[in-house]
Amino acid sequence: MSDMSKRTEELALAEEQELGSGAIAGMVRAMLESVGENPQRDGLRHTPERFERAFRYLTGGYQQDPEKILNGAVFDVCYDEMVVVKDIELYSLCEHHLLPFFGKCHVAYLPDKKVVGLSKIPRLVNMFSRRLQIQERLTNQIAQAIQNCVNPLGVGVVIEARHLCMVMRGVEKQNSETITSAMLGAFRDNQQTRDEFLALIGRGNR
Ligand SMILES: [Zn+2]
Repeated sequence: MSDMSKRTEELALAEEQELGSGAIAGMVRAMLESVGENPQRDGLRHTPERFERAFRYLTGGYQQDPEKILNGAVFDVCYDEMVVVKDIELYSLCEHHLLPFFGKCHVAYLPDKKVVGLSKIPRLVNMFSRRLQIQERLTNQIAQAIQNCVNPLGVGVVIEARHLCMVMRGVEKQNSETITSAMLGAFRDNQQTRDEFLALIGRGNR
C-alpha cells in the first residue's frame, strides 16, 4: 500500500472512530480472539472499528422517525387510482442471527385525496430496514406507517427476501426466498384491489 493510500485510510479511520463510541469495537476484538484470530494482525487491526461503524450505520433506523420522513411530503390531490412503488431494494439484519436478509419490497396504496412524495417510500423502507428485524414485522411496520401518515383507503406491502442465516448455514436451498405481505383496508377487504396489486408486481395468479 502506498503512503498516500495508507494516510487516506487512516484519515477515514479517524472519522470512523469519532462517530462510534468504541464500545462495539472492543467487543468485536474479544470476539475475534475467541474464535482463534489475532486481532492485531495487519488485515484485522482496524476491523473492529470498521465493524462498529458499519453496524451503527446498518442500525441507524432507530434514530429516525417515520412521521418525520412522511409528514412534510403528504399532498392533497384528486387522484384515486392505486399508487405502486415496486422493486425497492431492501437490506436488513435478522434479529436472531444479526445476519443480513435482502431482496425487494413492493408498496402500494389507494389514495383518499392524499398522496405522499414517491421518494419518501423507499426512504421509509430503508428506515425500518436499518433496525434489527424479522421480515414479518418489517412488512407490517412499513404498511402501518403509510396507513397512519397518509391515511389512504388501503395499503399493500410485499417483501421477497433471502436470509443469509438460512442460505449460508444450509438450512434452506440456496435460492429459497421468503415472501411476506401486509394488506390493510381495501387491500384486505377487496379482492380486486389486492389482485391488481399482485398482478402489477408480477405475483398475480400463479
Ligand atoms: Zn436469522
